[in-house]
Parts: sequence; structure tokens; C-alpha cells
Amino acid sequence: MDQTTDKHHMSQNRIFLSLTAVLLAFLFCFAVLSRKSALPVSAADASYIKWVDFGVTATAMSDAMALDIESYGTDEHVSWTSLLAYLGAKYGGNFKSYQKADLAYAAENLKKDPACFDGMKYYSYYKKAYSAVLDGFLGTYAVYENIDGRYRYQEKYGLKAFSPIARGYYYSDFDDFGASRSYGYRRHHLGHDMMGSVGTPIVAVESGYVEAVGWNQYGGWRIGIRSFDGKRYYYYAHLRKDHPYNDMYEGKIVTAGEVIGYLGMTGYSTRENTNNINTPHLHFGIQLIFHPDQKDGTNQIWIDCYEIAKFLSQNRSAVYRENGEYYAVGPITDFSIPD
Ligand SMILES: [Zn+2]
Repeated sequence: MDQTTDKHHMSQNRIFLSLTAVLLAFLFCFAVLSRKSALPVSAADASYIKWVDFGVTATAMSDAMALDIESYGTDEHVSWTSLLAYLGAKYGGNFKSYQKADLAYAAENLKKDPACFDGMKYYSYYKKAYSAVLDGFLGTYAVYENIDGRYRYQEKYGLKAFSPIARGYYYSDFDDFGASRSYGYRRHHLGHDMMGSVGTPIVAVESGYVEAVGWNQYGGWRIGIRSFDGKRYYYYAHLRKDHPYNDMYEGKIVTAGEVIGYLGMTGYSTRENTNNINTPHLHFGIQLIFHPDQKDGTNQIWIDCYEIAKFLSQNRSAVYRENGEYYAVGPITDFSIPD
């Protein structure tokens, strides 16, 4: 190796090192900035939450839910949102490093003292954020169950939210949250697409009020349903041409598991009832609303629903057909529905 090549190598190394340093500095700033944006605003600002990155995995949700259900009705009941809030605070919202042992640790401590993590940094933020996402999923409900050949009315506590795709219907999906979309204007995909066949019955994930129904240039035939606590707005879009809904109107109260409409490919047109979507799918979105200003306009909070859809796939609503319409076989009585 001659001198020139050596020098050449050295300067290359130097360039490489300084580039690495610049890159690391950039990554560090980026991490700090993006972390900051996901966290609550300072006390000087209004105190409601401005942004949520929902990074909880289906596995963590299932594990936390099991601990909540198994302790329900005892004086050591642990809420799954408290368990997940502890993990959120511990992991900085990123559940890639999730370990079941961390959950067991949280459960053990919360059983002794439900306020034990109140002093932990960001715990209260994650408790509020995750509760806003998950509060309607678990609770008391009743359902007729076939026990030894007789249908009995059973009161239960557990998962009362459903997959948006009815039981027995095939669908495929992947994590497409934030992917870019170009129809109309450049924007990010603020929901989750579930590909399936036209006509597949679409089910209400959670009970609530129908807040919007009808044609929307982007969503086509769409339904918007607001949870009773007002914090979640469920958006179901691209429903079937000519026959999008099962008797929907604004203000109607729907029950989780009930058939609300049918999968289709409408949308991307100002003209009503137009099929402009290439692949039939349900666009499923969840918007969080902590303050009325966040419902419309530029301050909307939409969360990644991929892990939520995966989690909900354990509870799919069975349906039957009658006079061209589909209905839930065993509709639940949801005790959270107001009188
Ligand atoms: Zn979509």
C-alpha cells in the first residue's frame, strides 16, 4: 500500500467519521423533537392532550386485558389502561421492547396501591391517552348464550368491542398508517385499510351515536360513530355502491357487534355513489377527541389502528341474512348505552 492511498484512506475515514457524527447529532435532535411532540404540552398551555401515538401491540393489549378481567370483582382489580400506561411510560410509548414480566410487575404493584405509579414521569399522560383509546372496549354486557341446549341471558365482564369485519369473512391487512395518498391533495393515510369482498358485512366496533352518514368525496359512502364518552370517533368508509348501510341515520344509537353497512369501493369522487377505489376495502379510522376544537380542522388526532384491528380479530360478530340485509346472530346488551 503506498503513501497516497494511505492518505486517501485516512481522509475518507475522517469524512466518514464526521458524517457519522453529524448523522448521530441529527438523529438525537430528531428523537428529542419527535418525543416531545408526542407528549403533553406544558402547564402554561391548555391541559388537554394534543397528540397520541398509539404504539400498544395486540399482544400487550391481550395480556393486560386478561389481568384486568381475572381481577375484576375482587378488591384487587387492576385496570388494563393503568397497566398499559405504566408500560407506555416505561417504554416511551414504543412497545417493541414489551416484556410480559414488566406487566406482571405493574399488576403486582397496582394491586397493592392503584395510585402507585401516579408520580412516575408521563404515567398520567399515557393513562389519559390509552384510556381515551380503550375505555369503550372492556366492560359489562349481557348476551344470550347456548348452555346445554338452552339460551340463557348471561351478564358478563370482558371484551365488548368487535372487529369491524363480520365473523367468517376473509380480509387482509398490513400496517398502512401514515402511507401517502394522492387523491385530491398530498396527504397521509389516517386510518387502516382492510381488504375484502364487496358486500362483506361491516360491524360497529363500539356502541355509540351515528354522527355522520352519507356521501363524502374521499370516503365515499361512509359512517361516523361517536362513543358515548365523546372521546372516540369511528370512521367506516368506501361502503358498497347502491346498498351501503343497514338502516343508518344521524343520531341513531348503534350497539357494538351490530351490522352497520357493507364493504365496497366507493369514494374519490364528488359525484355520489361512484366506485372510484381500485381495491375493495374497508377504511377504518379512529379519531381521538379530548377537546371539541380537535374534531375538525388541522388539529385532528387519528391513531394507527393496525394493532387494534389485530387485537379485535379475537372478537368477530357472527351474522345472518334476512331479506337481503345482515344482522348480528347474538347481539349484546351493552350496559354503557344511555337510557
Ligand atoms: Zn384507507
